[in-house]
Amino acid sequence: MGKHLVLVGGGHAHMTAMAKCGDFIYKGHRVTLISPSPYQYYSGMGPGALSQTYRPQDIRFHVAKMVQDRGAVFTRGQVVRIDAPGRVLELAGGERITYDVVSFNIGSGIALHEEAAAKNHVIPVKPIINLLKGQKKIIREAGHHSLKLLVLGGGPAGVEIAGNLWALMQNLGKTAEITLVAGAQLLRKMPPKIRTLALSILLPRGIRILEGVHAQIAAENRAVLTDGSHLEFDFAFVSTGVVPPPLFRDSGFSTAADGGLPVNPFLQSQAFPEIFGGGDCIHFQDRPLDKVGVFAVRQNPILHQNLLNALEGLPLQRFVPQKDYLLILNLGAGVGIFGRQNLIFGGRPAFFFKNWIDGAFMRKFQLSGERNEPENLI
Ligand SMILES: Cc1cc2nc3c(=O)[nH]c(=O)nc-3n(C[C@H](O)[C@H](O)[C@H](O)COP(=O)(O)OP(=O)(O)OC[C@H]3O[C@@H](n4cnc5c(N)ncnc54)[C@H](O)[C@@H]3O)c2cc1C
Repeated sequence: MGKHLVLVGGGHAHMTAMAKCGDFIYKGHRVTLISPSPYQYYSGMGPGALSQTYRPQDIRFHVAKMVQDRGAVFTRGQVVRIDAPGRVLELAGGERITYDVVSFNIGSGIALHEEAAAKNHVIPVKPIINLLKGQKKIIREAGHHSLKLLVLGGGPAGVEIAGNLWALMQNLGKTAEITLVAGAQLLRKMPPKIRTLALSILLPRGIRILEGVHAQIAAENRAVLTDGSHLEFDFAFVSTGVVPPPLFRDSGFSTAADGGLPVNPFLQSQAFPEIFGGGDCIHFQDRPLDKVGVFAVRQNPILHQNLLNALEGLPLQRFVPQKDYLLILNLGAGVGIFGRQNLIFGGRPAFFFKNWIDGAFMRKFQLSGERNEPENLI
């Protein structure tokens, strides 16, 4: 008899399962996708969209249409509790959805205390749509006065945001004072050559980089630094590291320290074998993985196959993560930094390469005429 597969979150690791959901339906199963938005915004191109290199339509997948066109059900909503023994998902509006097999790809968010997150001028860099909404606010305000833009966090995302804020202001023909508070050190976990390249691109643009200090949002337009000083800002982008949503912990699961769903090499929960997961929200028990889209993308075919096999009672496949991965940073204005092991270089070729890789991923899963749609930021 047919079973019910529920995909929670239309993230990067669910792309193949969504695009090929006809495979499940062909075998007689039902498929439901639950997501708060009909769109999934591709993080790799988010900073580029901030600087207007890309339009919102260029960087998103219409996941609702993707699954509906293939016979699945799309439910717009957010899962707030999992009753794993009962195999029931509870949505924010109170709706309850039962499942036989469920897969979670609900990503991660910026750990920001509620008070700071509620501020209109504070923009957590996840979800990625925040970058697009933040850009609109900047464009409105830049018409009135020269802006003070603050970026909190000196990791790859913070560097990309600072670089693309500069590029946005160049495009607008407006001035801004851009400050990046990097924590201990800019790109601390990256090879020194990448850090040197990033500094050689950002500093000549007039971007101020503060190292050896951390900052916290103290008021609507003010951050306080660990050295006791204050920084005023018009907009602050917060990129201080990501954590999985509290859903698994709130549902009484035994989670990893960061709240992630522990999964075995089959991307399957040990405690509840009918539960699978991929992307930033899981804790890969064999070897904790960096929270980068590269792994989510690589999990796609395994997750698709294992969900099908779980429904059909067939053996599962192992996900074997690569030891290292290619990272290309987009620093705005067509300039990037390419890094894979000892091959590191900066400049236009690095951005060209990133644009080409990202474009290929978009072409593969933009199956619903996304580029011809109106902007509609939802
Ligand atoms: C600015 C920035 C740039 C980045 N650039 C790169 C890059 O170039 N390369 C790279 O490899 N990585 C990059 N990353 C990291 C990358 O964003 C993440 O690793 C990637 O987004 C993980 O994908 P995901 O599918 O797990 O999560 P997400 O992309 O966050 O998708 C999760 C989805 O689940 C939905 N969801 C959340 N909660 C629920 C719920 N309770 N119920 C239902 N649905 C839910 C969300 O709405 C969302 O659609 C970047 C990150 C940032 C912040």
